[in-house]
Order: sequence, then structure tokens, then C-alpha cells
Amino acid sequence: MKSLRFALALAGALALPALAAAQTPPPAARARSEMIVTTHPLATEAGAWALRLGGTAADAAVAAQAMLGLVEPQSSGLGGGAFAVYHDARTRAVTTFDAREKAPAAATEGRFLAPDGRPLPFVAAWQSGLSVGVPGVPRLLETLHRRGGRLPWPALFAPAIARALAGFPLSEATHREAAWLLGLNPSCADGARLFFRDQTAFAYFAAPDCTAKPAGTPIRNPAYADTLVRLAWQGAAAFYGGAVAEDVVAAARDDPAIPGDLTLADLGAYRVIERAPVCVGYRGRTVCGMGPPSSGGLAVGQMLGLLEGFDLGADPLGAGAVHLFAQAGRLAFADRDRYVADPDFVAVPARGMLDPAYLAARAKLIGPDDMGAAPPGTPPGASGGFASDSRAENGGTSHLSAVDRYGNALALTTSVESSFGNGVMVPGRGFLLNNQLTDFSFAPRDEAGAPVANRVEPGKRPRSSMAPTLVFGARGRPEIVTGSPGGPRIIGYVAQSLVNLIDFGLDPQAAIEIPHHQNRNGRTELEIPVPGATRPYDADALAQALTARGHAVELGAQPSGLGVIQAIEGGFLGGADPRRGGAVGGR
Ligand code: GLU
Repeated sequence: MKSLRFALALAGALALPALAAAQTPPPAARARSEMIVTTHPLATEAGAWALRLGGTAADAAVAAQAMLGLVEPQSSGLGGGAFAVYHDARTRAVTTFDAREKAPAAATEGRFLAPDGRPLPFVAAWQSGLSVGVPGVPRLLETLHRRGGRLPWPALFAPAIARALAGFPLSEATHREAAWLLGLNPSCADGARLFFRDQTAFAYFAAPDCTAKPAGTPIRNPAYADTLVRLAWQGAAAFYGGAVAEDVVAAARDDPAIPGDLTLADLGAYRVIERAPVCVGYRGRTVCGMGPPSSGGLAVGQMLGLLEGFDLGADPLGAGAVHLFAQAGRLAFADRDRYVADPDFVAVPARGMLDPAYLAARAKLIGPDDMGAAPPGTPPGASGGFASDSRAENGGTSHLSAVDRYGNALALTTSVESSFGNGVMVPGRGFLLNNQLTDFSFAPRDEAGAPVANRVEPGKRPRSSMAPTLVFGARGRPEIVTGSPGGPRIIGYVAQSLVNLIDFGLDPQAAIEIPHHQNRNGRTELEIPVPGATRPYDADALAQALTARGHAVELGAQPSGLGVIQAIEGGFLGGADPRRGGAVGGR
């Protein structure tokens, strides 16, 4: 997988010139009463339709997610998992929903080890039945609707059902990612393909000569329409039991590479867990995010808490600001890798990790030069004894942000983990299986035998980086909704979007278009500007200034998919990520 990642990074780097032409970013979109931002225009349209009918943010999210599963199948869908952070205007409560995939009851800690005890290569685990966790998305949609919906549940599926039947043009992103994976196949023959190894997905995404169907190809998915009709009329039960569940189980167990062990009982037992948000104060606001099993809320919260005592200056790409942000990233990732896992299995010192005194002590480690690899701290309440894990997740996620006329706000990040999940499309059902269980640490213990917090255990949910986030103003009203795909880089993308809005006073669109930079406790990564998508800047000059402070700098692609909404006097401003082709809707 390392060489795969390297090849991908290289391909991205070569395709992009070092400096973009001068350009003026488009202004942020405005709306008076309601807004939705998603990573795909058709999903935004479905969500905006629900809002226009008097629907809530929850209604819009259901309609948009049903559409994302059709038009962005490489990123999210019914076969995947999600996290949502939700503000209910009536009760003024903020809560989170954990719809993360769950390991089957039969899973053991050696799941991703080869017979010789070494971790399986990532691709072998990814493209197999072993990586498939119990999906959470269908139950989450139902939970969100029960909690905050106003429109009739069956109606919310109408746009996606209509599109699945009438057809839609295959997107550039779906084409590009399918072409990438098909190109990695050692042979195209049935039984020899590494990617798109099952017939159903192969026929759906590829031409018989093993090339990816071109962007713009009209695609129909009547099988998906049929699944949505079942969900519309029978609720999530139509997914977790009966014929659909049987097909999901069979698709995982009959995997053409390595059979999985998912059972009907695993599906039947799946629950969405409502958990308290993790919140931190930042410059007079309260930033609330998704707690464990995601590391997103804690890591974003730690970064902001660490930066609270510093003045970031006036330039979002100034060497001083980038240096401080990188140091905060190092410290947050050190703790994340050590402590965060499913809180139903591991005591995560979440409160201690955001304790202001702890963060103030950690912030003292930040000096004028790069600190190098940060060791984890010992937050109050840490029981210790865990080994660090450096599992890095990769692409395959969507994010949507929504606010409605009633004052509700919702941030939803939703994922099949890698591109096209585990690559298997459930025959006759029109959606892909996830490979989210590869977000567990493959090695259950370190060399000294200390257990890794994020090791595989039966019924456990793998650690995530997803960071759907809501920010509240002094009077408790939601001010910002943000989130992004991007694997572990999500943490930096989201923290940067907040700093760009709060510290640098940028509007959501401008905040998104500032080139990314971050440090995941390794190199300091700088984004190569993307013409037409990011603000031009002198990346080499910034790299030199950082190198002078001791940073090891790496320039590369930073494929975020941010969706940001900001409440302003008399309405909302919205920004969608041009790196991903997202869109803002509402009125
Ligand atoms: N599986 C990753 C996570 O849960 C997300 C992957 C992505 O964003 O592409 O953190």
C-alpha cells in the first residue's frame, strides 16, 4: 500500500503545476433561511429540494445522502458508516450520532495478520471480505429522521429513486478513481483482478476491455432504486433483516479474495449510538465535534486548545501561522495515535485530552523551531499501558453541512473508507460494501506486547478521523458548520477551516480555498496550489521559511472536500470545496 500511496502522490504532484495563475476566488454563496453544502451538485439539489418543501436539516441530509450513494458510490453509501453532529433548535441541545461500522462478533485481534504473524499488506485486507464492517448509514438516516425530520420519510428518497431510474452522467471523480484502480490490476481476467474483482462492480464501473467507463457515461441503477424503495416503505429494518441483509452477508462471505465472516445476527444487532459531543472553547466560541470512536473531535479540539494562547498573525499562509499550526498538529496526533479507540472497549481519556490546564502545559512544548516527533502526553485520566498506532486511513468519504429555517444545524461525514469501499457491489442491490475495518490497527500489540487501543475486537468500531463539527457563539446559537473527507488529513482540513474563519476572518469560500498545510507528527505537508481551486501562493518560499525553522517539508496534493456554512446577520454564507466539485444550495 505504501507504494500505491507513493504512486498516487507522485501522480498528483506531476499533474499539478507548482504555481497557479492569479485568480479571484468566487464569493461565498448566500442564503436567507436555509442552506446545504455537499460534495456533489445532485446531492446538494436533493437536499435543497427537501429544505424548500419545509424540511429540516435532518430531512435534507437523508435526501442528500440517498443521492450521494448513487452519484458518489466511491465515497459513501448505504453499505458504509457515518458520524453526525446535530443541534436541535427546540431543545438547544447538541448531540452526536455514532453510526460507525462495527466488527462482526466473530472478529479476533489477529484478523489482519498473515499466518507468519506479520500484518497483511493493506491491499489484501482492503480488497477482501475481512474489511467489511456492519454498515451504519441506513440506521443513521432513520435515526436522524425520527429525531429531527418533518417531511414524510418515504418522500425523502424520491429524488434519488428518480435519478437512479432515469440515469445520471458518471462523474469525473468516479471515472478517475475507477481508472486508477483498474490500471493497477495485474490482469483483467476474471479471478485475476485485484480491483473490481467481482462481476457486479466490474460491469457497473468498467468497460469489457478493463478501462473505466468515461466521465459523462449515462448510468442507471435500478437495483439501487429498488433498495431505496424498500427503505422508503419499510424503514431501516428492510436493510438490517430480510432479503437485503441476506445479500449483504452473502456478498461479504462469498468474497472472491478472502471470505468475510459477517452474519445476519451482526446486522440485526446493529445500533446507532448517541454520544455526548466533545467540546472545547476557542476565542469565545464553543467548538463541538464527534468524540471517540472518531479521533476527529478530540484532535481538532486539541489543536484549537493548543493554539488558543498564540496570536496567529494576519496571514493565513505566513510562516509563523503555519509553524504554529504544524506544532499543534504534531501534539494532537501524538495523543490521538496513543489513546483514541472505541470508548465502549477502551477507556479514552477524552475529558483529560481537552483539559485546558493539560493543553496549556502541552502548548509549552511549542517553540520557535519545529519540535520534531512529539511524544504522546499523559492527559488527566489516562490509564496508560497502550502502544501507539500509526494506522493512516485513505480516501473514500463525503461530507455534508446543513442548516434549516427552524434553526437546526447538522454536520454529517459519511464513508465507505477507501475508494469504492472493498470493491464489491452487492448483487441486485446497487450499493458497495465498505472496507472500514481496515481503520483498525493491523498489529494488535507492539513489540513489547503492549496492546494497541485500536486493535480489532469483536463488535468494536474502528477509530476514525472524521470530524463533523458545529461551532456555537456566545449565546449558544450555531455559527459554523464544517467537515471534510480526507482520511487522517480531515483533522487538519477542519481545524484549518475554523482558524481561517475565526482567526483570519475569511468567509467560508475563501477559507476553503486557502491552500492546506498540516503536520500529522511527521513531515509538514504543504498543498501544491490547484489552478482554479486554491488561492495562488509561493509554496517554495513558504517551504524554505519552514525549513529554516527545522521543518521537513513535503509538497503534495491535499484532496479535501470541505463543506462550510457560517451564520451571519440575516442569513448564511456557504462554501463548497472546488477541489472536489462540491456545491452550495439553499435560499
Ligand atoms: N475511513 C476514514 C475515517 O474514518 C475516512 C476515509 C476518508 O476520509 O477518505 O477516518
